[in-house]
Amino acid sequence: MNENIPAGPAVAPDFFPRLLLVDDEPRLLSSLYELLRDRSYHLVTATCGSEALAQLNRMQFDLVLLDLRLPDMSGHEIMDYINARGIECDVIVMSGDVGIEAAIGALKRGAYDYLRKPYSREELLKTVENALQKRRLAVDNQCIAQRLENSEKMYRTLVDSSPDIIYTLNHEGHFTFINDRAYQLLGYSREELIGKHYSIVVHDEDLERAKYVFSERRLDDRAARSVELRLKCNGNNGGSNGAERTFSNTLMAISLGALGMHVKDGSEGPDARKHGVPGIYGVARDITDRKRAEEQISYQAYHDILTDLPNRMLFKDRLGLAVIQAKRKQTELAVMFVDLDRFKLVNDTLGHVKGDELLQQAALRLKDCLRKGDTLARQGGDEFTIVLPELRDRADAQGVAEKFLECLQRPFDLDGHIVHISASIGIAVYPNDGESIDELLRHADIAMYQVKALGKNGHSFYHDSMLDVSHQKIALEQALRRALENGELEMYYQPQIDVATGRIVGAEGLMRWNHPQRGLLSAGEFLPFAEENGLMLPISDWMLGALCRDLLLWNQAGGETIRLSLNLSPQYLDRGDFFEKMRGALTRYGIAPAQIEVEITENICIRNPQYAIEQLNKLCQLGVSVAIDDFGTGYSSLAYLHRFPIHTIKIDQSFVKEIHDENGHYPVILAIISIARGLGLHLVAEGVETEVQARYLQANGCTTMQGFLYFRPMSLTSFIHVLHAQDQAWPQAPVSMIAVQA
Ligand code: C2E
Ligand code: CA
Ligand code: CA
Repeated sequence: MNENIPAGPAVAPDFFPRLLLVDDEPRLLSSLYELLRDRSYHLVTATCGSEALAQLNRMQFDLVLLDLRLPDMSGHEIMDYINARGIECDVIVMSGDVGIEAAIGALKRGAYDYLRKPYSREELLKTVENALQKRRLAVDNQCIAQRLENSEKMYRTLVDSSPDIIYTLNHEGHFTFINDRAYQLLGYSREELIGKHYSIVVHDEDLERAKYVFSERRLDDRAARSVELRLKCNGNNGGSNGAERTFSNTLMAISLGALGMHVKDGSEGPDARKHGVPGIYGVARDITDRKRAEEQISYQAYHDILTDLPNRMLFKDRLGLAVIQAKRKQTELAVMFVDLDRFKLVNDTLGHVKGDELLQQAALRLKDCLRKGDTLARQGGDEFTIVLPELRDRADAQGVAEKFLECLQRPFDLDGHIVHISASIGIAVYPNDGESIDELLRHADIAMYQVKALGKNGHSFYHDSMLDVSHQKIALEQALRRALENGELEMYYQPQIDVATGRIVGAEGLMRWNHPQRGLLSAGEFLPFAEENGLMLPISDWMLGALCRDLLLWNQAGGETIRLSLNLSPQYLDRGDFFEKMRGALTRYGIAPAQIEVEITENICIRNPQYAIEQLNKLCQLGVSVAIDDFGTGYSSLAYLHRFPIHTIKIDQSFVKEIHDENGHYPVILAIISIARGLGLHLVAEGVETEVQARYLQANGCTTMQGFLYFRPMSLTSFIHVLHAQDQAWPQAPVSMIAVQA
């Protein structure tokens, strides 16, 4: 109610200092008011304590001019109130009291000044102005401090939330600052690092490099440098112990003192500030993910994904290095080419997944045979290459090759499918068999092919004479094409005897090639090449026609009709028009299907069983019967056997060869015989060469036989002679007496 009394500006602007004038003597209050009214202050008056408190509660004052003696309470009590409430204002105490206690009491309570009544006008104005000035300064200071704090907070936040680790090192390489990122990426808290040498976080192998770049002499003034370093993660703080991350560090020399950095190790001081303490400001960017990606990409470019072995490219690289070394040290080295035998069969019959599995297992076994410096690579498909650097002598390479063959001999378990494979290995030795990478590889390859040609499952060193062999191979292929056109192929026949009656009951057609230079070649010598070169289809077409024409001649020779067995190439059976061709040929030549038996190998049954079953069923409906050739050597399982329309099983020669003792026990033979019996199948034993074999087979229930003991395969003319002879001799002479050699 006393505001602006007795008179004054109704409302002072907001930035005017606010003064509360407290005095119970109206005269004094009014003169005080008069004294101050023209001075751009906002004035409020109070005539007693309670009024003063009410005003203090109502608004914020900058200064209170306080009379100590008031009717309702003392000025001290008002000051206590101000202090207790934490009210922000200065107090100038005015009192007529001469007692020193009153003054001390006021100053103790924080009064800015103490004026004794009566005061001079100038004294009062000066004291008021000083108090307000001091107040203004204090407010300004606080403002600046607040702004500083905000700014500091902002920079801290910016630095701490940086995606990179930001740090400073002093001239001794100790951390003087590091942001929060270090904790997130490395697991070290700020406290753990400040004052510590950088080497506690640098990977041991990178320490030398770190020393080189961090050494401040190399960092000239403002030049930034970059270095890639691996930093260690702190295992105690959640990071995986011993793990490392890679950082690209950008470093700059700085003067810590000049930047006003707080260097806690005492190197800061007036001098430091003047001269500048040398230090390093660094930013470490985490490039671990990028590094890993790069590593992975380069790994994949040089490794085979399936086996994890070096690939062809890396192999050539290693071989190149090994050759340079060998040249320098004048030592030998060996290059090996390993090709798995029968791999294609596994792939075709069991599928690619099992094929891949086999390659992986084989790769592991090969790897186990090698020393540390040797390189095993996958060349592609089922081919592996090896380089054995610093060979002491050839026997070492031979030893490794033998180890390879031995380790592959153990059966492979492909998810329950037991598979046997072997390998053909070619070896070329530097510098004798070649001085360049390509030459060595080519010659090892040729040596490997030589092993394949000679029956696989073995190893061979390269020799110059092999070049002729590989040339021969190419020549053979061309010649075979010509042979078809020039009619150099011919069908031979090998009779099958029923030993119970001694009669010829059938004959197998076996192909021969009358080679203009090399003479008569048997099927085994050229049909495998035909299979590889796509010549098997035209050759099989020819075979079908030739067999039909010959069969008509047999039949004309008179006697009983005997069965003709023909070998069916898997490639031919796979062809969609196979059945039509077969039926067409039989119809054209007027041949009874019942006189024909086709021989297939077990593997046909597994390759594409559904399709094979369909084809064979059609043949059966036509009246042609089906035999399984080389029984026991393939991948056929008994489960398949009864699903196939099969009439005959041919016991493979390899089992027959085992029979040396008439009274011996040959379980495989016996098992096959009992399978045939159980399934009601006809049985033929192949490759019977001795009487012992014949007697054993007969004694155990196999009576149809084919082999050199009776007849070798022979030309059509010879075969017709044999048929005639049989008719004339029958029944006086047993067939074994009239063995005719082709
Ligand atoms: P295969 O069907 O198992 O034929 C039996 C092979 O054993 C024949 O070899 C035959 O000459 C030989 N042999 C017969 N008796 C004996 C014996 O007592 N001892 C020994 N050691 N061997 C005997 P060849 O004629 O070289 O035929 C090899 C393979 O070529 C045949 O094996 C067959 O799979 C295939 N083949 C032969 N002719 C043809 C044909 O016209 N077409 C087709 N697709 N394949 C044929
Ligand atoms: Ca056969
Ligand atoms: Ca056979």
